Amino acid sequence: MGNSVWMNDELETLRDNARRFYQTELLPNEDRWAKQQCVDREIWYKAGEAGLLCAGIPEEYGGGGGDFLHEAVIFAEQARMLCSGLGNSVHSGIVAHYIKNFASESQKQEWLPKMARGELVAALAITEPGAGSDVQGIRTQARKDGDYYVIDGAKTYITNGSTANLICVVAKTDPSQGAKGISIIVVETDKVEGFRRGRTLSKVGLHSQDTAELFFDEVRVPCANLLGDQEGQGFKQLMKELNRERVITAFVSMACMERAIEETLNFTSTRQVFGKSLLSMQNSRFKLAECETKLTLSKTLLERCASELLEGSLDGSTAAMAKWWVTDACGEVVDECVQLHGGAGYMLEYPVARLYQNVRIHRILAGTNEIMKELIARDLEKRLR
Ligand SMILES: Cc1cc2nc3c(=O)[nH]c(=O)nc-3n(C[C@H](O)[C@H](O)[C@H](O)COP(=O)(O)OP(=O)(O)OC[C@H]3O[C@@H](n4cnc5c(N)ncnc54)[C@H](O)[C@@H]3O)c2cc1C
Repeated sequence: MGNSVWMNDELETLRDNARRFYQTELLPNEDRWAKQQCVDREIWYKAGEAGLLCAGIPEEYGGGGGDFLHEAVIFAEQARMLCSGLGNSVHSGIVAHYIKNFASESQKQEWLPKMARGELVAALAITEPGAGSDVQGIRTQARKDGDYYVIDGAKTYITNGSTANLICVVAKTDPSQGAKGISIIVVETDKVEGFRRGRTLSKVGLHSQDTAELFFDEVRVPCANLLGDQEGQGFKQLMKELNRERVITAFVSMACMERAIEETLNFTSTRQVFGKSLLSMQNSRFKLAECETKLTLSKTLLERCASELLEGSLDGSTAAMAKWWVTDACGEVVDECVQLHGGAGYMLEYPVARLYQNVRIHRILAGTNEIMKELIARDLEKRLR
């Protein structure tokens, strides 16, 4: 995000502070956390003290009082520095906003300050072994029993899953109603019985980030933990918040693209082949020029998304375009940068190899790129009506 038009002095200071924190607190632990597939619990408290949690949540709820750009700077810098263990984009960039936008005033007062301090670690549990893209196909149920919901079901691939103690669980409150029967219920795991964490999953990349299975066996949660004032709002709430998640994913991809180009420019300028620098070869120059063009186009599209998000006018199609286009471009750029590194590009000691592992998920997360195109096509079809 180095020379982007949206950067200003305040955001640059925030980026520098975040970078310092990542350098001193995350990077030295990255290999150990990658082996344990999870960060140490204490790092959440430290990130809270450093002001990196809930930066886009109002100060009255313990947050940093910033906006989308403050969060984007924090998440993008973390991805760029290849220390992805702390699942802050889900905690602060996604779940905190569900709470801010849909929880009751007393719940916001109760949960958000604890999230900002790292006392609560948050997760969003939508995906199940049998249903990912097709959210309406979920089988987790929340049945009402007096003043409680009783939750039964299983979730998988959940970021922060093995640590989280505040989980927004997407469940069916009325299985006969399709999308209108879906609700989001907040489970405070320290206060319930019947909740169990499964395996922490071994992944292609993002090795230090915790991704786990969750099981709910007759978990009783007060009805007050329903997000929103009535049942059946879950699907609408997801659709509303997913735009933000998609733009965050695209920002993170853009930062990874930028890092890959930087690494490759440095590598090709010092690597000698056939008596010349690799960078002086026409193929390297043209490939790097193509990569830089894709980065510049991504920045332009994301500038528009960021300003529309801030105004509240970002539509679903534009967010979907940014998500699929930027993450596809990132995949192409990083792949090309690996190629320009030769064998070194396949060695994990080179940042470009770790970028290659980490960015593959961007095309799958936050709605797969195929689903993004389906959403855009649906909007196109509306023109025929
Ligand atoms: C590292 C990681 C972290 C994650 N974190 C979370 C999390 O915190 N919370 C959470 O709930 N989930 C999380 N997920 C799950 C992620 O959101 C899903 O994997 C994703 O939505 C895709 O769902 P799926 O895996 O079931 O694939 P499927 O939906 O089964 O898709 C398989 C393939 O079919 C294609 N496809 C599906 N439907 C269509 C269609 N209509 N038209 C054309 N093609 C289609 C897809 O594009 C894909 O290529 C995470 C996943 C990973 C890997």
